[in-house]
Amino acid sequence: MSGNRVEVNQDLCKACRVCVETCPQHCLELGSTINAMGYQAVRFDSVNCTACGMCFYVCPEPGALTVFKGTDS
Ligand code: SF4
Ligand code: SF4
Repeated sequence: MSGNRVEVNQDLCKACRVCVETCPQHCLELGSTINAMGYQAVRFDSVNCTACGMCFYVCPEPGALTVFKGTDS
């Protein structure tokens, strides 16, 4: 397990799915709950995240995604 992870600010995500389609490790998917803006926000669910940052760079909503690189090698 890498320890890499992505935090999704549920109330900033507009469920555009760009990050879902971009992630090469298929770590992101639409969640099952509706956020404060009425969108089905994304959730992170994978131990395969490489902390590549691609999801962060493609997301059009500032602050919706934050990538954390784990300390495990
Ligand atoms: S940092 Fe890279 S591997 Fe991790 S969820 Fe984002 S796009 Fe996927
Ligand atoms: S790219 Fe950003 S706004 Fe779009 S679904 Fe992913 S986290 Fe939500």
